[in-house]
Amino acid sequence: MGIKRKLLIVEDNIINRMMLEGILEPEYEVLSAEHGQEALDILKEHRNEISLILSDIMMPVMDGYTFMDRLREDPELSLIPVIVMTQGNSEEDELAVLDHGAADYLPKPYRPKIILHRVANLIKLRESAAMINQLQYDRLTRLYNKEFFFKKVQERLAQDPNGEYVIVGSNIENFKLVNDVFGRKEGDRVIQEVADIIAATIGSDGICGRFEADRFVMLQRKDKEQADRRNVNFNMTGVSSQLKNVTMRWGIYEISDRTVPVDSMCDRAFMAASSIKNQYSRFFAVYDDSLRNKMLREQSITSVMDKALEEKQFLVYFQPKYDLRTGKAAGSEALVRWIHPEWGFMSPGEFIPIFERNGFIPKLDQYVWERICMRLKQWKDTGCPLHPVSVNVSRADVFQVNLKETLVSLTKKYDVDPALLHIEITESAYAETPNQIIDTVSALREAGFIVEMDDFGSGYSSLNMLSSMSLDIVKLDMKFITNELAKPDDKSLVGDLIAMAHRIKLKVVAEGVETKEQVERLKTLDCDYVQGYYFAKPMPADEYEALIRVNEPKD
Ligand code: C2E
Ligand code: MG
Ligand code: MG
Repeated sequence: MGIKRKLLIVEDNIINRMMLEGILEPEYEVLSAEHGQEALDILKEHRNEISLILSDIMMPVMDGYTFMDRLREDPELSLIPVIVMTQGNSEEDELAVLDHGAADYLPKPYRPKIILHRVANLIKLRESAAMINQLQYDRLTRLYNKEFFFKKVQERLAQDPNGEYVIVGSNIENFKLVNDVFGRKEGDRVIQEVADIIAATIGSDGICGRFEADRFVMLQRKDKEQADRRNVNFNMTGVSSQLKNVTMRWGIYEISDRTVPVDSMCDRAFMAASSIKNQYSRFFAVYDDSLRNKMLREQSITSVMDKALEEKQFLVYFQPKYDLRTGKAAGSEALVRWIHPEWGFMSPGEFIPIFERNGFIPKLDQYVWERICMRLKQWKDTGCPLHPVSVNVSRADVFQVNLKETLVSLTKKYDVDPALLHIEITESAYAETPNQIIDTVSALREAGFIVEMDDFGSGYSSLNMLSSMSLDIVKLDMKFITNELAKPDDKSLVGDLIAMAHRIKLKVVAEGVETKEQVERLKTLDCDYVQGYYFAKPMPADEYEALIRVNEPKD
């Protein structure tokens, strides 16, 4: 036997009540009330436990009709089936009772077997309906689950063939982190709060669901969604007291072609949302075909990258760096290129960000570092003048590769002086995770490598960063150089920056130098090195080797 279900009897006549209790108590746990008001009070406490109500009609304080009306006003209580038991047995009485929402009607006097049957059947019916109900809703948020959301959307689109709708897909940025830091329970709470906000925002006309984890979807009318975009607090700061910064990104798919399956519509909405992941100021993205092509391109790049590395499709180019005082090449930066058999020449601007997202970058970078060490050894063995080569290090390398160990073992393997290897770490990596980077940089410098901060001035800059860290070289970003050198001397920051860097014993490289005027200005500002198209573009290794073997001063 399972647990006993709970029933509530509402009956003012004590004899009737006792008779009913006598019939039901062997199989059920029975609570009793003398009138509607008392029954409502009991329900306040036991609303989730009561499986069925048996109620009289004529009662003092609150009669059965009023009681049933009150039940119907409450969405949860209205789900509890009510059997009405009265003296009257006319068709009118029965209809009046059913009209007020009763599930069944039994005239007195009581017939125990019939009562037990009806009660059992109604409870069974209600529980199977509740099961279906549960399957439709997501347990945590009470939003629709995936399958049911699809179904509801299909129904709505069929009912309203001319309506203009959008599907909005959204997730909580870095939700995994919320779970990791605050625990699952708090994570669940955030999801519930976000679900409440979403449900309230889209209103009764919209349809919303939760897929797995932190992925929410909505169907909304197009004009309503556009209005919401202006109102919603995108950065849901303070959603939860403990969480200061819950950020949502919203991807919007405008439904124009209704033959697209609803699940693909949702995929596209999510695709749009993930296209703006980690961007500081963009919270909305609308799906279009160019986005789709971009994502498809990203997928195809991801699917061929391993093979490309195996087949040595990646080539390392060298862009010379010039010493401004002597005018001679004094080193170079290694820049990777991808020569794909079908797609042809590809620039790192296209594939590096993808590799940073999909986790391939450490593999490619280690390959590049090894190629550079091999080259340096070859130049040493063939008597070519040796100049340092800068290699780029992505943020993921710092976390996934033991940089110092890897680089030390490479320089040992190829018998390369670590001082010939310059390590470029981009400025944004310093800004985001200063402590790890500071440790890595010190370890690398102790091992004899030269460390450069790349892209300085590109947006995250803090002068404190330069002085709080032991570095060797700072590389001024191309955009910074272009913008600042276009200003008159007394307005430009370049001179001050160079002077400051020199005070803390840093050398300065200006990147992306394209004109003679820029070169002249940088000379007067005492810049140490320049790199840019004015002097040379990135070139294949053999070409670079020929250049340094001669190394005529430029300008
Ligand atoms: P970066 O490290 O800041 O490299 C400088 C970029 O500026 C290079 O673009 C270079 O070709 C370009 N450049 C240099 N002088 C000029 C100029 O005068 N005018 C113009 N318009 N551009 C100039 P590239 O080779 O396309 O590389 C882009 C970025 O890709 C690099 O920026 C770097 O962040 C990344 N990257 C390149 N190779 C690697 C690599 O092997 N590993 C990693 N992790 N990143 C790499
Ligand atoms: Mg660089
Ligand atoms: Mg740079």
